[in-house]
Amino acid sequence: MSLRIVVTVKYVPDATGDRHFADDLTVDRDDVDGLLSELDEYAVEQALQIAENADDAEITVLTIGPEEAKDALRKALSMGADKAIHVEDDDLHGTDAIGTSLVLAKAIEKAGYDLVISGMASTDGTMGVVPALVAERLGVPQVTLLSEVSVEGGPDGTVKGRRDGDIASEQLQASLPAVVSVTDQSGEARYPSFKGIMAAKKKPVTSWDLDDLDIEAEEVGLEGAYTVVDSATERPARTAGTIVKDEGEGGKQLAEFLAGQKFI
Ligand SMILES: Cc1cc2nc3c(=O)[nH]c(=O)nc-3n(C[C@H](O)[C@H](O)[C@H](O)COP(=O)(O)OP(=O)(O)OC[C@H]3O[C@@H](n4cnc5c(N)ncnc54)[C@H](O)[C@@H]3O)c2cc1C
Repeated sequence: MSLRIVVTVKYVPDATGDRHFADDLTVDRDDVDGLLSELDEYAVEQALQIAENADDAEITVLTIGPEEAKDALRKALSMGADKAIHVEDDDLHGTDAIGTSLVLAKAIEKAGYDLVISGMASTDGTMGVVPALVAERLGVPQVTLLSEVSVEGGPDGTVKGRRDGDIASEQLQASLPAVVSVTDQSGEARYPSFKGIMAAKKKPVTSWDLDDLDIEAEEVGLEGAYTVVDSATERPARTAGTIVKDEGEGGKQLAEFLAGQKFI
């Protein structure tokens, strides 16, 4: 039997771009370029390595996001995933982490899975809670923040991994089906090859909305959110830095500057 791996991948605003809040204090996702969250590339990479070591495996990448989120799916498909699911619905606007976990869990159940792999956190929300919430909703074990991950024994087997903490490294395992999240120490993500990019164009991308997942609009979006952003103040734009020209006194000036800022 094929090992069914679902990788959750998030389309996030490009951190190098100009990011703003919309009038309703949600993240403005319309006027900003986005990309596959870098931390989710590690999850895709680990899925690919597990699949390469399995007798038979199939990788589905799953995202919730606007139309542009398909770009994140295409990137994951060009890295080597087999197929993709895109959940999009206007009523998702303002969905918080709890709502996001509901939609992901319903989509994962509908897709069918033995192993779910997520990133350790998204690079925009950075809450790091979604994998645990998804595992709870699915009623399966979770092994989070793994720096090393492998599967033994196929779909009825176990997922094993190493979790590095401040004082110890733990070797953990869980029976499948399970949810794991992987850290940025789990192994460099591969670059899509030209062949991979061309092949991705022909791979299937399924689109689902809330009706397809039997989710009521009130359960998600701003209405269903448990968390509310009361106010947000954008940080002032960065000012130009101080340039110290070394004309013999550079070191002294640098030390004086650092002392003035109370760094030394
Ligand atoms: C169109 C849209 C509008 C939104 N509006 C709001 C809002 O107004 N307020 C609010 O609080 N939240 C909103 N969200 C949800 C928010 O962006 C986060 O997805 C959610 O709050 C989870 O927080 P996080 O990203 O910090 O998750 P983390 O817990 O940091 O994410 C960990 C991992 O979970 C997976 N994951 C998380 N989100 C997704 C996703 N969307 N698709 C696939 N995998 C995912 C990834 O593998 C990720 O690495 C919106 C999302 C979308 C798509």
